[in-house]
Amino acid sequence: MPFEYLRAEDVAGAVAAVTEQPNAVYLAGGTNLVDHMKLGVATPNLVVDISHLPLDQIVELPDATVRIGATVRNSDLAAHLLIRQRYPVLSQALLAGASGQLRNLATTAGNLLQRTRCVYFQDVSMPCNKRDPGSGCTAREGYTRYHAILGASAGCVAVHPSDMAVAMAALDASVVVTGRTGERRIRLNDLHRLPGDTPHRDTVLTHGELITAVDLPQLSFSQHSAYRKVRDRASYAFALISVAAALDLSDRRDAAGRPTIREVRIAFGGVAHKPWRATAAENFLRGAAASMENFHKAAEVELAQAEVFNDNAFKITMIRNTVASLLADLTRRQVGAGDLAGQEPKP
Ligand SMILES: Cc1cc2nc3c(=O)[nH]c(=O)nc-3n(C[C@H](O)[C@H](O)[C@H](O)COP(=O)(O)OP(=O)(O)OC[C@H]3O[C@@H](n4cnc5c(N)ncnc54)[C@H](O)[C@@H]3O)c2cc1C
Ligand code: SF4
Repeated sequence: MPFEYLRAEDVAGAVAAVTEQPNAVYLAGGTNLVDHMKLGVATPNLVVDISHLPLDQIVELPDATVRIGATVRNSDLAAHLLIRQRYPVLSQALLAGASGQLRNLATTAGNLLQRTRCVYFQDVSMPCNKRDPGSGCTAREGYTRYHAILGASAGCVAVHPSDMAVAMAALDASVVVTGRTGERRIRLNDLHRLPGDTPHRDTVLTHGELITAVDLPQLSFSQHSAYRKVRDRASYAFALISVAAALDLSDRRDAAGRPTIREVRIAFGGVAHKPWRATAAENFLRGAAASMENFHKAAEVELAQAEVFNDNAFKITMIRNTVASLLADLTRRQVGAGDLAGQEPKP
């Protein structure tokens, strides 16, 4: 399909150009959008290139918030010293995604707003409520190995594909957005939607709103964080499931002499239409002993509402074991191996 190309000179001009035309889109690194244009999944009449806007800096604000510009490349973000030292979970999540070449092009906002990898969404010959509202969901009765186990609807069972967004969800990031009527801030956990009856809407953004930055608030224990991704190949593959976690152990021990958990952050990827902040698991663990048994139980509490399909029941066990092994690693790094010795993960 023919389309017009416009290179934006400033944020206001970019927002005005896209807002005025219902079928206009932003182009950042293009690693997702251009694929969709080639496949016929996206058919914009106007493409507004924002990759030259001055939004490519990572700066620390006076209150120690780290502000990441929307067009910062995934490679630059992963390699930044502040991110590697203070938020290792984010650096690891980025490096677990795509390939070196793709990360050199992909941007922070583009990564957040990349669309699902559901194979039926990408195949324009198949019914898909997300691509063509009201046409049906082929995946529900199809191949569901990569699909959701939490928060799905009758209309869509797709998952959000980003690794980076899972780490940002655990870190309680927020997104800074500029639209025609001004600027607003959205918690990252509220940016992506569950599918409900309107799976064609991935996020709460309105047409023309431009993400200008992502803010990472200061978190006293964010250096005790990590990301683990389980996938079919060791690289260049999307997550079957992933877990981002940060753990803060207190000095207090329980009656059995085990370390206890002061604070914890957990988010799952590959399980829902949005990065899944595991608040029930966090609530279960806060104040509890750091033990393999509690790590498993916390995952089970979060997964109590899970619903599986023919090909993805394995995700339940996979999430449970990944949560337990990741939290065990974070515990060992803070108190040494002795406290968890002999507490093997359940099969
Ligand atoms: C082969 C392959 C493997 C991959 N593997 C992984 C993986 O394992 N893990 C993973 O997380 N990702 C993976 N990816 C996805 C990749 O990370 C995304 O394609 C990339 O992050 C998108 O960023 P971009 O800047 O290229 O976005 P673009 O393609 O330019 O844009 C994506 C979407 O975001 C919108 N957009 C972009 N910037 C803004 C903005 N500032 N405000 C509002 N809207 C905006 C665009 O309009 C478009 O709708 C893979 C991609 C490929 C092709
Ligand atoms: S799961 Fe969602 S994206 Fe996939 S076919 Fe169904 S409606 Fe489309």
